[in-house]
Amino acid sequence: MSYDLVVIGAGPGGYVCAIRAAQLGLKTAIVEKRKTFGGTCLNIGCIPSKALLYASEMFEEAGHGLAALGVKTSAPELDLPAMMKHKDDTVAANVNGVAFLLKKNKVDAFHGEARLAAAGKVEVSASDGSRQILETKNVVIATGSDVAPLPGVEIDEKIVVSSTGALELAKPPKKLVVVGAGIIGLELGSVWRRLGSEVVVVEFLDRVLPGVDLEVARQFQRLMEKQKVAFNLAHKVTGVRRTGSGAIVAIEPVAGGKPISIEADVVLVAIGRRPFTQGLGLEALGVAMERGRIVTDANFATNVAGVRAIGDVVAGPMLAHKAEDEGIAVAEILAGQHGHVNYEVIPGVVYTSPEIAFVGRTEEELKAQGTAYSVGRFPFTANGRARSMRHTDGFVKVLADAKTDRVLGVHILGHAAGELIAEACVLMEFGGSAEDLARTCHSHPTLSEAVKEAAMAVDKRAIHI
Ligand SMILES: Cc1cc2nc3c(=O)[nH]c(=O)nc-3n(C[C@H](O)[C@H](O)[C@H](O)COP(=O)(O)OP(=O)(O)OC[C@H]3O[C@@H](n4cnc5c(N)ncnc54)[C@H](O)[C@@H]3O)c2cc1C
Repeated sequence: MSYDLVVIGAGPGGYVCAIRAAQLGLKTAIVEKRKTFGGTCLNIGCIPSKALLYASEMFEEAGHGLAALGVKTSAPELDLPAMMKHKDDTVAANVNGVAFLLKKNKVDAFHGEARLAAAGKVEVSASDGSRQILETKNVVIATGSDVAPLPGVEIDEKIVVSSTGALELAKPPKKLVVVGAGIIGLELGSVWRRLGSEVVVVEFLDRVLPGVDLEVARQFQRLMEKQKVAFNLAHKVTGVRRTGSGAIVAIEPVAGGKPISIEADVVLVAIGRRPFTQGLGLEALGVAMERGRIVTDANFATNVAGVRAIGDVVAGPMLAHKAEDEGIAVAEILAGQHGHVNYEVIPGVVYTSPEIAFVGRTEEELKAQGTAYSVGRFPFTANGRARSMRHTDGFVKVLADAKTDRVLGVHILGHAAGELIAEACVLMEFGGSAEDLARTCHSHPTLSEAVKEAAMAVDKRAIHI
């Protein structure tokens, strides 16, 4: 069988690339080693974690948040198997949806492990041991990423778990120690905190959420502490020792000092992810790599003709929507169009309660690059819709170029921040100014008025504060 394009890996990068290529008339195949399509994101990442985040937030609301709205409930009871079923059903609907879309777009889908046998030849090894070669003009590698291990700590997915095991716990652990205060650790820590666990987070750095605007991260940490998530910042884990039914996590201050032992029923290792390239045959083909990632140029091409790569396996933020946009861009390039990804406008979201969403530069980045900027802030306490929902935690911050007023970054801590950030992305994609945003009519009463008011505050003319 001969193709224009064979995509390796059916995560958000790979399956979106295959569909776009097929739409553009390329004869396309996709190879996936997992039983279902959708990659990390749909099977063990974005989708199952959001299903549990939503369900656990509802549990928390039912327990604590509804009385103040005049809704009396008796103490809610956790039915964890039903919650897990909701998660599994959500995953199944999504992965089956991808299978349907591949079929609808006439993408040939192969289940098995792919290897680049030579330029233009992809070998697929199926689980029954059979092998076949797919001939192709182009290959796009979209093999994603895997959990980064903590040296010396063995993950058994029962007591010492990665994010995958943390999505499957049979009961809320009495005490959960989360290693790493990044997005995944704090999201999954939040889930189990809401379902009854005591949660302690250990982080090497002296702050939570590295990369997130510091003012936002600090305020967020205080809100998490109010939710009874404890933090040991600037501490490193020196060992995790299994005991009978749990583990002891040994930590010590990064700056030196007294070691501490924390007993845990479950330890979640969430220190990041690393690109996955094992078994692809890249070394034999001479594909250039840098710190585990495949090196690509602006057209996603590697140094080997006919081999391109996208998603978590190449440089840039390890995010599903970044992988998807790269998938579309590379397909368009292969079809002779001008596919492009604007890396300046890739939003990020932390799906905790409240949420964090951001796009563009942080204040720290603007300071470091010596850009003069103006800041507009607006708190949700001054927003009518937020008050009506009792979701008044957090604020919106708009950062604009001091000379041109062009928006350089938007940072939101608050309810539904992940939805609110979209208008900032559109604005920034069009090179818009804070004044453009401030003069755009926003519905009343909505949380999005806080975004508009923050833009007005850049010019010190917010009305409601
Ligand atoms: C718990 C968790 C929560 C997350 N939440 C979010 C979120 O809310 N938002 C967000 O944007 N991102 C989130 N992410 C990150 C997101 O999942 C990744 O950025 C995204 O999946 C990357 O897409 P990808 O297509 O590059 O790779 P992947 O989704 O990792 O897909 C790669 C696929 O390639 C397959 N594969 C690998 N090698 C081979 C081979 N040799 N042959 C055949 N198939 C192969 C793998 O089986 C896999 O299915 C989360 C991740 C985790 C772990």
